[in-house]
Amino acid sequence: MKELNEKTMQFAQTYVAPHSDQADKEGTYPLESFTALKKEGYMGLIVPEAYGGQGLNLHAHATVIQALAQSCATTALCYMMHNVATMCVVLHGSDKMKEALLPKIAKGEISLALAFSETGTGTHFYQPEIALSKKNENYILNGKKSFVTAAGFVDYYMVLSSTLKKDGLDNWLVPDGSKGVTFQASQWDGLGMRGNASMPMYLENVTLDENDRVGAEGSGVTQVFEVVAPFFITGLAAVYTGVALHINDIAVAYSMNRKYSDGKSLSEIPTVQNHLAQIYKKAQGAKHFTTAASLSGSNMDADALTQIIAARVNASDVAVEVATLAMKIGGGAAYAKRLPLERLLRDALAAQVMAPSTDVLSIWLGKALTNQPIP
Ligand SMILES: Cc1cc2nc3c(=O)[nH]c(=O)nc-3n(C[C@H](O)[C@H](O)[C@H](O)COP(=O)(O)OP(=O)(O)OC[C@H]3O[C@@H](n4cnc5c(N)ncnc54)[C@H](O)[C@@H]3O)c2cc1C
Repeated sequence: MKELNEKTMQFAQTYVAPHSDQADKEGTYPLESFTALKKEGYMGLIVPEAYGGQGLNLHAHATVIQALAQSCATTALCYMMHNVATMCVVLHGSDKMKEALLPKIAKGEISLALAFSETGTGTHFYQPEIALSKKNENYILNGKKSFVTAAGFVDYYMVLSSTLKKDGLDNWLVPDGSKGVTFQASQWDGLGMRGNASMPMYLENVTLDENDRVGAEGSGVTQVFEVVAPFFITGLAAVYTGVALHINDIAVAYSMNRKYSDGKSLSEIPTVQNHLAQIYKKAQGAKHFTTAASLSGSNMDADALTQIIAARVNASDVAVEVATLAMKIGGGAAYAKRLPLERLLRDALAAQVMAPSTDVLSIWLGKALTNQPIP
């Protein structure tokens, strides 16, 4: 994993970092970064080797995401969502679906996104309300998804719906360009994560068949809690750990380079040293916690779920805390947007609202620790 981390850090510095400022300033999806990720085989990181992928695990997923986030949080977040959807196909897709999609994902020919959240249930994305009906052998979806990251830039959207069975959910793969699918392109002007293209998606009589469903009818709940939850929550922990580490690097470099007329640097001021110490301590803490949690998940340890939830809440809090401290060190230059710190503060603020939000996850954590059921 050390090698994968170093390789990805270097890759991200070369191919991802040069586009992060533009993605933020212009609110554009980092297409060039994804072209490079596809070319270098990253899209198939967790695709089994039998289908041409690298066959790596949850820990590798977190390692790559964290390294990408140290260059561009938006790229890391979009990539993370592709991996989550891919893992649902790997673990629940039919043989036919896996044979059709996984080799193409591994070759970087196609990518996926998650269309889960809806306005009516907000952060509780596992309670979809879009309508599913059946006509002869076809299934028909009608409704609206509220935030779909990478909308318009991927080949398939993973859409969660209720099921026609008595209980449960269905998880569908809707091909891009399907009749009845439209996006509200004007609707993404986020505070941070501005390259995400997280747009509302409308589904109007979108017609699918049995082969488009990921897994058995009603298996969406299992997928949400056994696949989406570990890969998504760990992925968010990794994104915001990467953001915190990035902030640490910027704060250290700036404090050494910013010199007063007497030749002394900011880094010689005890208060700044104290802030730097706090940032380092918090960012390193997040790094070790996220690493331990992702390893715990890969090993399927008994306490993996609580580790993962706690690491995600911790990394989210840490990213905002260190960004706020670093803004002090950056002073007027940071406030005037001459440093990327204000961008990272805005990116960090997304952590607390992304589903399941840190408030909801904290409640889940308290329940899990006291053996109470979580949704
Ligand atoms: C940058 C970004 C990218 C996103 N990308 C995607 C994507 O690709 N796919 C996707 O499906 N969704 C995506 N989302 C949506 C996201 O995951 C959430 O579903 C969405 O932000 C919820 O917004 P809301 O305003 O409806 O939240 P609300 O549900 O209105 O929640 C508002 C606040 O109330 C709190 N709250 C609500 N219920 C409870 C409770 N029971 N206990 C404690 N606190 C509670 C929440 O924590 C939150 O802070 C994205 C969001 C962002 C910001």
